[in-house]
Amino acid sequence: MKKILITGGAGFIGSHVVRRFVNKYPEYQIFNLDALTYAGNLENIKDIENQSNYTFVKGDIVDESFINELFSLHNFDGVLHLAAESHVDRSIEDPLAFVKTNVIGTMNLLNAAKNQWKDNFEGKRFYHISTDEVYGSLGAEGLFTETTSYDPNSPYSASKASSDHFVRAYGETYGLPYVLTNCSNNYGSYHFPEKLIPLFINNIINNKPLPVYGDGNYTRDWLFVEDHAIAIDLVFHEGKNHETYNIGGFNEWKNIDLVKLLCQIMDQKLGRSEGTSQELITYVKDRPGHDLRYAIDASKINTELGWKPSVTFEEGLEKTINWYLSNEEWLQNVTSGSYKEYYQKQYS
Ligand code: NAD
Repeated sequence: MKKILITGGAGFIGSHVVRRFVNKYPEYQIFNLDALTYAGNLENIKDIENQSNYTFVKGDIVDESFINELFSLHNFDGVLHLAAESHVDRSIEDPLAFVKTNVIGTMNLLNAAKNQWKDNFEGKRFYHISTDEVYGSLGAEGLFTETTSYDPNSPYSASKASSDHFVRAYGETYGLPYVLTNCSNNYGSYHFPEKLIPLFINNIINNKPLPVYGDGNYTRDWLFVEDHAIAIDLVFHEGKNHETYNIGGFNEWKNIDLVKLLCQIMDQKLGRSEGTSQELITYVKDRPGHDLRYAIDASKINTELGWKPSVTFEEGLEKTINWYLSNEEWLQNVTSGSYKEYYQKQYS
């Protein structure tokens, strides 16, 4: 039986990856390591918690001795590393927290894997999950490819870029078998409502303002989270060692257009007259260092591994909105407590 360590599996994307691996690979023993920060929630993976091939481990990847102890207890065959501080606005407030988790935490995992596997890398794999934000900002034209130079602008993207470089360096220097993916913005169920789509769905439900940064012309490429999990599964099993793959939805939206679309769909779903939710749009002071446009060229993963998104944006958004409307209790639970304080400070 293969032992697989997935970090950050109580978070948004990690929970989808853990669910997929636990259900699809009964022959794997899946260990989900998560510190359960404000963004991690065991409710996100409640449906699989009693499966015999699943173990949850609460712990902090920044704690080197804890990570070494975990690796001394278990001989892992693979690591899928998703644990991270992931919110750009929070990185502007507290950059050091991002260095600790995203850089030092990744280093601890890299060292533990290298030390455990160093006598025989055969059949082992370290998979680092990263973001397209490491590439910086695009103008009106062009797409990020795997050879685009790194040019991060926020403390979040700088910390992720740094961790990507370390992963690559461990591959070159020590021969660590790694794969790395850089993905565009995800959306879907179990997404913490500080990120645009769940934040706006939640605020529309509760008749709260919809804070749009600057003029709303920032452009993002959106991918349904379950399609990201499918891509991660594929790259983990079939990607080539020491390769990077970009993952994206070929689905660019200006923030303001996306917000208007959300308002329109939500008005229909909530039985409100057309235009009601749009009145909640409030333009707020721009985020410093805000990248104008991200867009991914995902042709490498498409031609080499045969991956492409399985749902259209309309289908993915429909599933997502329906999920939040049927899981209002989940939304209420995660928007209480410390999140509330942060939210009030951020948007008051
Ligand atoms: P998330 O914030 O929803 O989840 C992160 C998880 O990591 C949480 O469960 C949290 O408890 C855990 N965690 C944080 N610090 C930890 C620590 N020190 N030790 C152990 N666990 C810790 O993030 P997400 O959106 O699911 O992103 C997952 C990964 O995918 C990140 O590496 C992120 O950079 C990357 N990514 C995200 C997106 C996106 O759109 N969300 C896009 C591309 C790449």
